[in-house]
Amino acid sequence: MIRTLILCIVFLWSASLQAAEAVRLDSVRMWQAPDSLRMVFDITAEAEHKLFLLSNPDRVVIDLKNTTAADLKLDPAQLDQSWLKGMRSAARGANDYRVVLDLHRRVTPSTFILKPNNRYGHRLVVDLKGPAAVAPATVISSAPPVEIKSASEKNSGRDIVIAIDAGHGGEDPGALGYRGTREKDVVLQVARKLKALVDKEEGMRAVMIRDGDYYISLRDRVTKVRDSKADLLISIHADAFKNHKARGSSVFALSPEGATSEAARWLAESENSADLIGGVSLDDKDEVLASVLLDLSQTASIEASLDVGQNVLAELKGIGKVHKRRVEQAGFVVLKSPDVPSILVETAFISNPDEERKLKTSHHQTKLAKAVMTGVRGYFSKNPPPGTLLAMRNTPKQAHVIRAGETLNSISRLYRISMKTLRDSNALKGDSLRTGQVIHIPSV
Ligand SMILES: [Zn+2]
Repeated sequence: MIRTLILCIVFLWSASLQAAEAVRLDSVRMWQAPDSLRMVFDITAEAEHKLFLLSNPDRVVIDLKNTTAADLKLDPAQLDQSWLKGMRSAARGANDYRVVLDLHRRVTPSTFILKPNNRYGHRLVVDLKGPAAVAPATVISSAPPVEIKSASEKNSGRDIVIAIDAGHGGEDPGALGYRGTREKDVVLQVARKLKALVDKEEGMRAVMIRDGDYYISLRDRVTKVRDSKADLLISIHADAFKNHKARGSSVFALSPEGATSEAARWLAESENSADLIGGVSLDDKDEVLASVLLDLSQTASIEASLDVGQNVLAELKGIGKVHKRRVEQAGFVVLKSPDVPSILVETAFISNPDEERKLKTSHHQTKLAKAVMTGVRGYFSKNPPPGTLLAMRNTPKQAHVIRAGETLNSISRLYRISMKTLRDSNALKGDSLRTGQVIHIPSV
């Protein structure tokens, strides 16, 4: 019996540029994310290829025309943590080559070719997507269960959610240090330290946008930030500059130009305009109103980003040089959630040998994470989002709902508090109260 069922066939025959000369498949790398597995094959030229899926057991077959290959090997440690059981490959006929990926699960594949850059030659990228729930990679995350706090949340307000994004990852190493330190590695280490600090903080919890060595597109990062219902995004980087002497931390918020072009994009794209902006659905609003709502939401987000960014920058000043005194603004895509305040922290210039050396040490990474945490704590203690534990802490203990016939005078007598104190603590202009109004009773 033929147990193999061909599920679907993806035809990806691309035009062969070099029909005569055989392409050589040199090496392969893999990057497992919670919801996708990326395989990257180094090839000497654009290879004509096709890919198809087989089930029972699940596997992906990639046939490359006019191709030869070296002995392809995967890192066994990486394999253990991935959706891949193994990889087989062999020559097929006189000229072709076949790679079979044996999988633990069913996936949705896609492929594309990457042109050479200063780091790599031609690459054939195979993306295998699937829901994150069954992914073994999700087990890697050492995140403490969030549910622990939720029992008390019912009475005392929700946690403030901090989304932490470690820049780059996987096939994208980010900036490279003088001694070869990769930005993607050090920023993930700083991000994990920051997550531990946030989770320790009462009334806060962290969500990692990237929590492993894999790449997430910038747009997908924005989606993950919004899906996590974050109150703040902190994207962590350590970029390079051609001048090796450049040094110091900087903090960025979205620029008004970046926001304007983003607003245009959100309004232009139908699937996005149906989205919620600050709890208001844009899809039933006319264009002008929708753009006004989006603008208000973005303006508020950028103002909050500048505010929290200034708090973080002030703390970073305490541990070393800062590159600029103020929060800078740029059109970084990852900062473009219209309704989530977002900052990008350049922890240091990895291109500066001195900063590169420090960035690699756990001690300095902890210092950076603590500085960011202190800045974030400072900001939210002054600006707790409504409904959070911190917001409830800031509200006066006692409140009185005005019933018919009650006056400021009668409340004053009831609680033995002067009318002036009541007026001041409730920012009342006159003495008139309306039924149903809530009066805060300060503790004196
Ligand atoms: Zn970066």
